[in-house]
Amino acid sequence: MASTDPKKIAEVRDVHRLERIGAHSHIRGLGLDDALDARMISQGMVGQNGARRAAGVILSMIQEEKIAGRAVLIAGQPGTGKTAIAMGMAKALGEDTPFTMLAGSEIFSLEMSKTEALTQAFRRSIGIRIREEAEIIEGEVVEIEIERPANGQAATFGKMTLKTTEMETMYDLGQKMIETIQKEGIAAGDIITIDKSSGKISLLGRSFARSRDYDAMGPQTRFVQCPEGELQKRKEVVHTVNLHEIDVINSRQQGFLALFAGDTGEIKSEVREQIDAKVAEWREEGKADIVPGVLFIDEVHMLDIECFSFLNRALEADSSPIVIMATNRGITNIRGTDYKSPHGIPLDLLDRMLIISTQPYSQREIRKIIDIRAEEEDVEMTEEAKELLTKIGTESTLRYAIHLITVANLVALKRKAQEVDVQDIRKVYSLFVDVKRSTQFLIEYQQEFMF
Ligand code: ATP
Repeated sequence: MASTDPKKIAEVRDVHRLERIGAHSHIRGLGLDDALDARMISQGMVGQNGARRAAGVILSMIQEEKIAGRAVLIAGQPGTGKTAIAMGMAKALGEDTPFTMLAGSEIFSLEMSKTEALTQAFRRSIGIRIREEAEIIEGEVVEIEIERPANGQAATFGKMTLKTTEMETMYDLGQKMIETIQKEGIAAGDIITIDKSSGKISLLGRSFARSRDYDAMGPQTRFVQCPEGELQKRKEVVHTVNLHEIDVINSRQQGFLALFAGDTGEIKSEVREQIDAKVAEWREEGKADIVPGVLFIDEVHMLDIECFSFLNRALEADSSPIVIMATNRGITNIRGTDYKSPHGIPLDLLDRMLIISTQPYSQREIRKIIDIRAEEEDVEMTEEAKELLTKIGTESTLRYAIHLITVANLVALKRKAQEVDVQDIRKVYSLFVDVKRSTQFLIEYQQEFMF
């Protein structure tokens, strides 16, 4: 084991939390009031009141840390907001509760076994809240200049924040930084932490892609400047990291940099056993708590029977996260078997799930969602264009209508218009077909396609 020092481990928080943008960027929570009732439109959420309320109940149970190892299924037709509701839960849970998203098909990778991928997802969803009695003095600001050995060109990587138990002499600090930089690579926005009592210096990377490049940095690294900045004392420090991060850091083969690269490979079961033992020790000493988070598995019908039996077993564990699954399938085959079952999920697993169902949207709700998305995507649209888009959303799918917003805006910009009008919607409707028309086309012209 490389290290199981809680201080070092604590410093990797933030590494995993992914920025969620795109299709659900308008969702900022579940939009519930204090009594857990759904407000018609709130926090980017529209309608789907029953499902949102049910999700709110689960959410408060998670927040009160009352449940672990439960499985929830969100079932409903395509585009009825299943993922949006999961996103709303993630936002409402806040930074300290781990939330991991996974699409069912993602676990079929050549690089690791299905059960390893699921184990990693489970452990990513289990938080370890570590408490430290530390007196930390935060000092800004440091500028460094690094001479790359490959081409000899100097590159400046901007400011870094220094956290140290005490300001040491500039020389010592500089020496330690150089060693760390050489060992771990560095990029703008990184945070270096120096713990004077243990003499340990650690690096918190934020610019993952860049960190990898500086892996090979050599002795030419030059420390340039380290002015003392504002000092600030803090007493107790609480960090939350997830179990998977601890696994990766302590797995000798991959180590710290693998976290930045996101390429962790398989992790040996001995490493995990040692980590579990260590975490149990910290809990007994009152140094750490377990925070069961949420694992969201979208398209759960893509999992096969082996994955389902893994889930059944893993949900039994004490520290298991809440597993929320979503599916838009009806009665279908359980992958890897000849049996059919509701949503393609084995009955014994279904039986232990809380099931939330989502309903198709009314025209009014679709219109509201389109209004919100247009605003989110910063697109001005005439009333008539919105009406037409709503009609498309009702007759085709909500997702298709949402996709047309940005492309219609591009078409409008091309004709130098300030806002999207009916003609732009018509144009993109003819340029991009929805699934219904695409299928129709296939049926009509199937002879001409390759078999
Ligand atoms: P699928 O079964 O196809 O995966 P889904 O049920 O997960 O679909 P989403 O992806 O959540 O559907 O919804 C499609 C789009 O509509 C997304 O951009 C989502 O954010 C938005 N959306 C869906 N429902 C709502 C809602 N109730 N309020 C606001 N936006 C919504």
